[in-house]
Amino acid sequence: MDTEKTIKTPPCRTCKQNFEITDRDIAFYKKIEAPEPKDCYHCRQRRRQSYRNERHLYKDTCDLCKKSIISIYSEDKTFPVYCSDCWFGDGWDRMDYGQDYDPSRSFFDQWNDLWKKVPKLGLLTLGQMENSDYTHDAIRLTNCYLIFDGEQAKDCMYGETFYLTKDCADFLFLMKSELCYECTNCNDCYNLNYSQFCNNCNESAFLQDCTGCQNCLGCVNRHRAKFEIFNKQYSEEEYNEKIKQYGLHDYNNIQKFKQEFKKFVQSQPKKSTRGLQNENITGDNIHNSKDTFYSFDCADLRDCKYMTNCVMKSNDCMDVDIWGGMDRCYNCECVGEGAQNIIACYYVAFNVRDCYHSAFCMKSNHDLLGCVALIHKHHCILNKQYSEEEYTKLFAQIKAQMQKSGEWMEFFPIQTSAFKYNETVAQEYFPITKEQAAKWKIPWQEKDPAKYKPVDFTPPDTIAETDDSILKQILGCETCGKNYRLVSQELDLYRKKNIPVPHQCSDCRHTARMQLRNPRFLYKRKCSKSGEDLETTISPKRPEAILSPEEFVKEFF
Ligand SMILES: [Zn+2]
Ligand SMILES: [Zn+2]
Ligand SMILES: [Zn+2]
Repeated sequence: MDTEKTIKTPPCRTCKQNFEITDRDIAFYKKIEAPEPKDCYHCRQRRRQSYRNERHLYKDTCDLCKKSIISIYSEDKTFPVYCSDCWFGDGWDRMDYGQDYDPSRSFFDQWNDLWKKVPKLGLLTLGQMENSDYTHDAIRLTNCYLIFDGEQAKDCMYGETFYLTKDCADFLFLMKSELCYECTNCNDCYNLNYSQFCNNCNESAFLQDCTGCQNCLGCVNRHRAKFEIFNKQYSEEEYNEKIKQYGLHDYNNIQKFKQEFKKFVQSQPKKSTRGLQNENITGDNIHNSKDTFYSFDCADLRDCKYMTNCVMKSNDCMDVDIWGGMDRCYNCECVGEGAQNIIACYYVAFNVRDCYHSAFCMKSNHDLLGCVALIHKHHCILNKQYSEEEYTKLFAQIKAQMQKSGEWMEFFPIQTSAFKYNETVAQEYFPITKEQAAKWKIPWQEKDPAKYKPVDFTPPDTIAETDDSILKQILGCETCGKNYRLVSQELDLYRKKNIPVPHQCSDCRHTARMQLRNPRFLYKRKCSKSGEDLETTISPKRPEAILSPEEFVKEFF
């Protein structure tokens, strides 16, 4: 393997832990004229993620057309929020907010003045949306409810990161699947429940790392198995009899089985890196990628590092979360679809190039610095138009000043995010407490006591015992105490699949699914079979034996 060479290990400015800068990193920084980072990869990512609220929605009014809308910005925000039609429309001029650059002030302070006043887009949804108001960051949905970050779903609820799903609920990273419930990182599956990291599995439940399995229960690392329970073969009759005995339509039986399955999973070896068709990569859940390091949940990457959730063809990028279809982008959150040389930007996409420190600039923009919400613009700084010549001159001046102040190519500060920290994805990957937030002067969303009223009601153990009156019932989450309700569409799905109603709120269910995934951190370990050196997300504290991808294939395929 063509590995990297560690050149230095400076302490991170934020978390104080030493982090690696390799020969490869330095070559990349030189190429894009970036200063070496002062924060470690995790602290850089945390800062970017603190700008992204993926799943907290609020009722609001569009500040332009006054229509009722759903929005990702909470009621106490101080900037205007527009509905999608108004925000993309011609009823306002983004250049009205333009500011002159003031060399006596910090650039980020000036950017924040602009950021605070420019209208924000309430919800990001694109393409035809039918009966799917409570969704965000999504394209082409029909009858969907509380699903986020994905494309083309029908009759789906409570999920995140998806593509082509139908009749599914409670999912995370689910692609091309139907009738799936509580599935995480599964592709091409049908009628699969409570499973993780499976491909092409049908009519099964409690599977992990299985491919092409059918009518299986509680299996791990199985390939094309049929009528197996805990990796043990049964006849069709025996299998059906056993399934009856487990009674997995009953809430209590499911909880018991979950514990049993967890123990079984820990007794089985694990593949050190999940993914297919890779060459010279480190990370996890990577597909069809080459010469790419320390990246997670990505596909089609070449010469990239520190990437997460980028699933469209990308080359020569570093430190980008979400999206893809880009070249030479660095330190960005949500950029893609024809993005070239986009640096330290948030939500900049669709045929854009040479943009720096800008947010929500879309559709054929180029040569922007510190802009917000521009569409089809070029040679602008802080939303002010310049000639190409003026732009080049002022750009060089600002760059030099930002290099001096240490702001150049850094992402916007956490403190100026439009969200409270615990509304954002940062809290999912890098959780902090209210006390820590106060200490670091990071905005924090307080719990609304009205949403946590005690409830004296436990949902029935089976869906057969559950009638429609439950739709009027306020439920209390068994984990966090938050009140939640069921929608009729989900009751229909539970009936169709004969599964009991959940006892936890959708946020706690999401957190539980997140916890079934490995952390985005690489440990240096050895393959349990061959002894070769590995980098893996499986902590040395985990009880499972780990196998290199090659040994894993030898053992299980
Ligand atoms: Zn750090
Ligand atoms: Zn409007
Ligand atoms: Zn809860």
